[in-house]
Amino acid sequence: MTKIMIVEDEVGLVTLLKYNLEKQGYETTVVMDGKDVLVQAMSEKPDLILLDWMLPNVQGIDLCREIRKTYELRNTPIIMLTARGDEADKVKGLSFGADDYMTKPFSVPELMARIVALLRRVSPTQTQDNLSYGDITIDFSKRRVTRGERNVHLGPTEFRLLQFLMEKPGHVLSRELLLKSVWGGSIHVELRTVDVHIRRLRRALNEGGEKDVVRTVRSAGYALDFDDKTDEELDIS
Ligand code: CA
Repeated sequence: MTKIMIVEDEVGLVTLLKYNLEKQGYETTVVMDGKDVLVQAMSEKPDLILLDWMLPNVQGIDLCREIRKTYELRNTPIIMLTARGDEADKVKGLSFGADDYMTKPFSVPELMARIVALLRRVSPTQTQDNLSYGDITIDFSKRRVTRGERNVHLGPTEFRLLQFLMEKPGHVLSRELLLKSVWGGSIHVELRTVDVHIRRLRRALNEGGEKDVVRTVRSAGYALDFDDKTDEELDIS
């Protein structure tokens, strides 16, 4: 059973979330005090965390950072819930490791849809020689990339870039992180180089007229994402 941890101090909202999540078949666990989050998350290992930004004792954003730094929890998907609608706060939340972000008051069906989408995209299927996400597969033994039936021809840098993006699907990865991970942090490479290679990767992936799955997040970075549908399309109510 998929377990969702609700970290929220507003009783009314906790009740609403708990009711709706359980109705959808999720198991829930509630934490109302920020200082209990890490300990409880470590022991309960939730599949996803709904994390309020403003909590007693601890800021949600600090918790987000702590969760990402904790080895056992570092890949747990996080959706931040916040009363702030500021775009800068959103970018800040995402750069501290949140996977998605909902501004209060939000629609419950929309939140449910985001949860479904997030859970789906964080579990790519990986075998020893293959890494697959959506219709893209990397065959490491043959060093070959396919999209559906089509061979995708990539240079070595685009290959490494794609591998790195596919290992963290749906996560927004900053250009700095990509530079460090794919180029090894060479001081002679400019950030703009990342954009150039992303552009080449995107072109190669979409050459057959497929859906563009490389998402550009302004001033934050890039993500590989099959779930960029509009809210209307996502409404599962
Ligand atoms: Ca709160």
